[in-house]
Amino acid sequence: MTIVRVEVFGYDLSYVHGSYVMSGGRTVTSLPSTVVRLTTDAGLEGFGEVCPLGSTYLPAFGGGARAALAELAPHLLGLDPCNVALVGEAMDGALRGHRYAKSAVDIACWDILGRSAGLPVAALLGGIRQVSYPLYIAVPLGPVDEMVRYVEARRAEGIHRFQLKLGADPREDAARTRAVVEATGDDDIVIADANGGWRLQDAVVAVRLLEGLERVYLEQPCPTLEECLIVRRRTAMPMILDEVITDVQSLLRAYEAGAMEAINLKISKVGGLTRAKLVRDLAQELGLRLTIEDTWGGDVTTAAISQLAASTAPGALFTVSFMNDWTVEHIAGHRPRSRDGVGETPTGPGLGVDVDVSLLGAPLFAAG
Ligand code: MG
Repeated sequence: MTIVRVEVFGYDLSYVHGSYVMSGGRTVTSLPSTVVRLTTDAGLEGFGEVCPLGSTYLPAFGGGARAALAELAPHLLGLDPCNVALVGEAMDGALRGHRYAKSAVDIACWDILGRSAGLPVAALLGGIRQVSYPLYIAVPLGPVDEMVRYVEARRAEGIHRFQLKLGADPREDAARTRAVVEATGDDDIVIADANGGWRLQDAVVAVRLLEGLERVYLEQPCPTLEECLIVRRRTAMPMILDEVITDVQSLLRAYEAGAMEAINLKISKVGGLTRAKLVRDLAQELGLRLTIEDTWGGDVTTAAISQLAASTAPGALFTVSFMNDWTVEHIAGHRPRSRDGVGETPTGPGLGVDVDVSLLGAPLFAAG
């Protein structure tokens, strides 16, 4: 089986709760998402999606994904999509870096592999360990009352894991966190995620104020691993690293330094499901826990997340997010769909969702 056509589509994904605010004045209302459709000579189709979280979250942006995919598309023709390793090598041979863009192609290959095998991708990523799991939701940075109201509204919908977007004034951030802890119950988890927004001194002030708050976890307080390690030495708070964990090498470096107990694994950040499986398996083996998600995305991204989550050991799964619960637009009928704060992985072949291409309009470009 070989790839005979590559099509790249674009659509915008709006945040369902208005403005998504992170530290450093980073605000998102709508983002350009990019969908890849691979078609094979056997008539099978596979879909992948990539949607960077704006242009200042990681070294990635929507226009970059599309430009990189335009470079890559001709090099995919004639390849066997089921040989994900060779497709990865061909992409790396055609364009250095830009792993986030390659992620969409890699996901589409796994979709075809699953469809050709008649198995859900989770079965091929190591085996199905669970089909449902609790989800978390991010709470945009804002005034204390607003964040508490948002948490209460999501809690009424069944969510019990909250990731607070922090990284502003450390005292105000501590007040935000304390208020959310008070507004939640014994079964709720509260993650204080600064997205690397605190300067070192602010991070140390923040952890001093957050110390002792039950059920609170710290995520990526500062931008670099070195700064996070200094914070780590000052606190007993459980630590999750996200932005600095981009591949096996950075994971091992952080692990050797004793930097964290958990990582946030975003599929496009590491370059697709192939590398996400590698990082996931390694993290699991090292005794770490994982949040499994992506930077942003719609139904296809969420389907890929759900397959990776389903194949992760229950004891290693910290939390998961269904990105399509955060967005207005749906290209696969809002599947997979969460219910009462719980995500469920589709068990059909491939990613288990059917994309309605008519919702995407004409491709931005195509090869083959
Ligand atoms: Mg994070």
